[in-house]
Amino acid sequence: MAISGDDVVGWIRRSAELLAENRDYLTQLDAAIGDADHGANMDRGFRAVLQKLPTVADKDIGTVLKTVGMTLVSTVGGAGGPLYGTFFMQAGTATSGKDALEPEDWAKALEAAVNGVINRGKASPGDKTMVDALLPALEALRSALNDGAPLAEALRRSAAAAEQGMKDTIPLVARKGRASYLGERSAGHQDPGATSSHLLLRAAAEVWSGQD
Ligand code: ADP
Ligand code: MG
Repeated sequence: MAISGDDVVGWIRRSAELLAENRDYLTQLDAAIGDADHGANMDRGFRAVLQKLPTVADKDIGTVLKTVGMTLVSTVGGAGGPLYGTFFMQAGTATSGKDALEPEDWAKALEAAVNGVINRGKASPGDKTMVDALLPALEALRSALNDGAPLAEALRRSAAAAEQGMKDTIPLVARKGRASYLGERSAGHQDPGATSSHLLLRAAAEVWSGQD
């Protein structure tokens, strides 16, 4: 079984739902070490994405994901907009013309997306950013698929690694983005971007769990 175009649209819809539900939580996290706008930014961006989705829902998966990315870039300000925009645009480029994704296609798409974020933001692991959730998620997905795990289990392991990476940002001192202005005072708080990244991977695991 593969991930269909409808499944990808379902993932985006579930992500929008989780981001809306967690809007205040993400904002509180950003209030502690940033400027208290991450929840509002992500929710605004994904609301705009939901409006746009019907115009591309019957297109190939690459077009859907590129449209998500372009919509985020044009509606979300700050650091998060361009970074998540790049994430989805790179995932879209990696899946150009495809109507279904095999597990390996998803791994390649996630790899392109995460590399896009790293190339654009220049964050390394441990800098207390979304990369600290995204990179472990990619590594866990790859290792699960290498172990021969079915897609549903690989997605669960990927989301669990993102969650662990998110929690592991708590003691870190931020070296990138607005939180880095706080220096040592950024330690003791969970990174908002790592938290929203976990929600995206959790949505994929939830919505695609019927796949094997
Ligand atoms: P802003 O910081 O401009 O207000 P947001 O609040 O929407 O933007 O997003 C903040 C999140 O962006 C941070 O929690 C962090 O995860 C992420 N971030 C910031 N700078 C970078 C970077 N250079 N690379 C990767 N992620 C980053
Ligand atoms: Mg902010």
